[in-house]
Amino acid sequence: MKNIILTGDRPTGKLHIGHYVGSLRRRVELQNSGKFDKVYVMIADAQALTDNFDNPDKVRANITEVALDYLACGLDPQKSTIFIQSHIEQLTELTFYYMNLVTLARLERNPTVKAELKQKNFGGSIPMGFLTYPVSQTADITAFKANTVPVGEDQLPMLEQAREIVRSFNGLYGETLVEPKAVLPENKSCLRLPGTDGMAKMSKSLGNCIYLSDSADEIKRKVMSMYTDPNHIKVTDPGDTKNNPTFIYLDAFSTDEHFQRYLPEYANLEELKAHYERGGLGDMKVKRLLNEVMQETLEPIRLKREEFAKDLPAVWEMLKKGSEVAREVAGQTLSEVKKAMKIDYFGV
Ligand code: ATP
Ligand code: MG
Repeated sequence: MKNIILTGDRPTGKLHIGHYVGSLRRRVELQNSGKFDKVYVMIADAQALTDNFDNPDKVRANITEVALDYLACGLDPQKSTIFIQSHIEQLTELTFYYMNLVTLARLERNPTVKAELKQKNFGGSIPMGFLTYPVSQTADITAFKANTVPVGEDQLPMLEQAREIVRSFNGLYGETLVEPKAVLPENKSCLRLPGTDGMAKMSKSLGNCIYLSDSADEIKRKVMSMYTDPNHIKVTDPGDTKNNPTFIYLDAFSTDEHFQRYLPEYANLEELKAHYERGGLGDMKVKRLLNEVMQETLEPIRLKREEFAKDLPAVWEMLKKGSEVAREVAGQTLSEVKKAMKIDYFGV
């Protein structure tokens, strides 16, 4: 079996450091590992429209932003096929057939969808497109016969749903589709990076993000005003490092070398955490270190992004080429699906 990756992001905003540690950093490593036959990276505009159908300008504008974030982080169109979901109409057709294999009750049980429905305040008027997006995500993954999907933890229920549909399809119509597996970040703090406000998830829709494109000043302002442990009032108070986003971000980004460079009185993060937990370490000192680490990590990404942003027609040309390649591949899978379902009346 071939080793194929499919992964992607919704163009609902610029990408942030949660995307970076949750999925993007790993994608670039896997892309460069030489262990994969194909890497497909999708900008999920059709999925973004399921809850932004009234704001097509936002989705369109963010396609450019997400593409720039990709290139800035090291996704390379020579090694990965980067494409736009809505350009691949075969995905819609696959979704239509897969819908027969899922019940409404099953879709309503999906814990990520449940949480998102609450967050988006749809009330009694849930758009069908939104509720069924896990089915369309199954179409995205299976169209490219992907066996590996590098994602953050919030996507696990989507992968479970995809596996169920694949098993059901193959059971009914014969072995056609490939069962995918999620690849989660190894570092626990990266599974679901919290927001700068301490909310459970940094999310474009919640406005609690540090963006990959933020200026040095913006990064500093955001880090310095971050939520920490609300019970750590005096410097001498013992503090909590577990539910404290400043420490979670250090877990996700800092290395021992950062300590040597910026805070040599501590050998590593464990020592810093121990000090905070026993009391006597102020939040400002922790934030100053975090600011240095974030600046060092994000500066090269920002500079590369600025370079790519100078030639947007080239970025769109790259997306067009990628989308054409993706369309061919999805077309091949759709033919196999139609044959398996015995709807290839006139040949496919
Ligand atoms: P939206 O609010 O529009 O859903 P989002 O910020 O959740 O946007 P997505 O485009 O839905 O971003 O997610 C893209 C990828 O990034 C997914 O693999 C997801 O698991 C991962 N991801 C998103 N936010 C985080 C986070 N805070 N920590 C770790 N991974 C994340
Ligand atoms: Mg999301």
